[in-house]
Amino acid sequence: MSEYNTNGDNQENKPKGPKINSYWIYGILIVFILASSLMTGYNNSQEIDIEDFERMAKAGDVEKLIVFNNQKAVVYLDSAKLAEKNETGGRFKNAIAGKAPDYQFEIGPPDEFAKRMEAFKKELASLDETNPIAGNPRYFVGPRYKPKPNYWDFLGYLLPFILLILIWIFIMRRVSGGAGGPGAQIFNIGKSKATLFDNSNTKVNVTFKDVAGLDEAKEEVMEVVDFLKNPKKYTALGGKIPKGVLLVGPPGTGKTLLAKAVAGEAGTPFFSISGSDFVEMFVGVGASRVRDLFKQAREKAPCIIFIDEIDAIGRARGKGAMQGGNDERENTLNQLLVEMDGFSTDKGVILMAATNRPDVLDSALLRPGRFDRQIGIDKPDLKGRIEIFKVHLKPIKTGPDIDADILAEQTPGFAGADIANVCNEAALVAARRGKRAVEMDDFNYALDRVIGGLEKKNKLISPEEKKIIAYHEAGHTIAGWFLEHAHPLVKVTIVPRGLAALGYAQYLPREQYLYRTEQLMDEMCMTLGGRAAEEIIFDKITTGALSDLEKVTKMAYAMVSIYGMNDAIGQVSFYDPQNNYQFSKPYSDETATKIDDEARSIIDKAYQRTLELLRDKRDELEMIANELLEKEVLLKSDVERLIGTRPSRPAAAQNGVS
Ligand code: ADP
Repeated sequence: MSEYNTNGDNQENKPKGPKINSYWIYGILIVFILASSLMTGYNNSQEIDIEDFERMAKAGDVEKLIVFNNQKAVVYLDSAKLAEKNETGGRFKNAIAGKAPDYQFEIGPPDEFAKRMEAFKKELASLDETNPIAGNPRYFVGPRYKPKPNYWDFLGYLLPFILLILIWIFIMRRVSGGAGGPGAQIFNIGKSKATLFDNSNTKVNVTFKDVAGLDEAKEEVMEVVDFLKNPKKYTALGGKIPKGVLLVGPPGTGKTLLAKAVAGEAGTPFFSISGSDFVEMFVGVGASRVRDLFKQAREKAPCIIFIDEIDAIGRARGKGAMQGGNDERENTLNQLLVEMDGFSTDKGVILMAATNRPDVLDSALLRPGRFDRQIGIDKPDLKGRIEIFKVHLKPIKTGPDIDADILAEQTPGFAGADIANVCNEAALVAARRGKRAVEMDDFNYALDRVIGGLEKKNKLISPEEKKIIAYHEAGHTIAGWFLEHAHPLVKVTIVPRGLAALGYAQYLPREQYLYRTEQLMDEMCMTLGGRAAEEIIFDKITTGALSDLEKVTKMAYAMVSIYGMNDAIGQVSFYDPQNNYQFSKPYSDETATKIDDEARSIIDKAYQRTLELLRDKRDELEMIANELLEKEVLLKSDVERLIGTRPSRPAAAQNGVS
């Protein structure tokens, strides 16, 4: 039982009976109408007098007479005879001879009726003496006495209808997604698609222990758990419980995991939905889903709603009106804003959301009172990675040479999801190799695979191409080795991997947040090292430098137009995360030309510098390239053996920040 009874209207999670659906009511009505019309079928036939009946019988039109309950006699006409006479009961219009009774009459006192019928039958027989009774054309069956209508007959009539209705219900079920049919969306389109985790069906069993690192973030969300558990502690002092918590960070850093841990720790129901689940091609569906989600959540309060990738619906409004479907997204967002305002905090519904693009979110969403708290989750640093490795190494059978510290050192820039992936990959590799425990060797293989893609052992590469690749990678290596600010090398390989990579040099980026101009320039030179080496050695260039050039171009434009690192353009930034300037740039054509010129000149300068450096170190370049051709993979230690240790650099540069 929760303690969440601050205003006395806590709604418990009562088990609810089957929902009365309008289709059921229609169905029952139809069955009822059909049944009543058929059951009382004989009531609908035309009322006549007994004299009329006698006239019909004398004419020889009657087939049988049945008396129900000693009250009512129903008359069946003989269709064959009527047809023979080409009469459809001329005297009695509407007489459609057939299965259903054609006429009915009250018999009056049963004894008298019986006597009268006996006399009447005799009279009929006497009317035609030539024939025996059975062959008398005026002969009719009956009167037969029955206690009540024969229900089995009526059931016979009903059966096709019942079958039809059953088939109809079955189709409805399928269509409305009872069995997850393909047409599920049609009737449930406005329903929220959130998955509910609660005690009854799927309990969340993630706890804070499963989330490694992220200490500050954990502390923040622990408070949320406390809100849900002891709201009074906070409300007693007049404080309000936050309505929303926004987790911001790059993909795979554990945002979903953290939200799940909150639900697991708080022991409350947890609705999980992705922002894109609100989006459908029909107008109004998104808003309806938001309403439905909050309605469900309020019924289950206290609980947590988690919206992953909220940027799918939370983008700033009124932008990019040229694209269709924009209004729909705005409607959805508006509804979300309204709902967030609408639920009072003491109900105990806390909205958690995750995004990696907080910059594109609508400011109305971010204001206090909606997402009161924003928790930044960054890619883990060395310490964080060690802890995450420890969590993910736990379920793996590891050999004695596995050390979380070393692994963490080798995986700069890895997010939690990447680390989980590496551990899993290593276990799979070890299993494939038939080992009893996972060893460092397997981890190295897994790391290469995660970083560079699958090794393509059979990729046919001509010796000439291989040589170009070796010099290209050697160019990167040498440039990085002798440039003051370039990141330290981990390894360089020319084993083809993945779809495009023919080789790569892996570096160990420093954990730093600010970059100086010189550092960016050195980084650019190192990136251009491959192309420069090709030009120096072969005097020809190849398409192999595509991704290098792409990276360099982006960096140069960023330096000029975003970071204000260029004197000609000055201290201005045209940073445009929300794509506001898609169709009209915020600067004049002149400035655009200047930006282009400056970016080009930066790249040219970097390239010239790289060419000079590599020409200067041509011997080393050749050495590395030849060794690469021979061994395919060179580690930092191999490079040191070949060309000596890396020139030492000033301490400030090593830290990255001066
Ligand atoms: P996102 O930030 O994109 O929501 P997830 O929370 O879905 O990332 O993380 C994906 C997976 O990565 C998790 O299921 C978990 O295995 C692993 N992971 C990420 N961060 C951590 C962490 N801090 N500790 C342990 N595992 C983590």
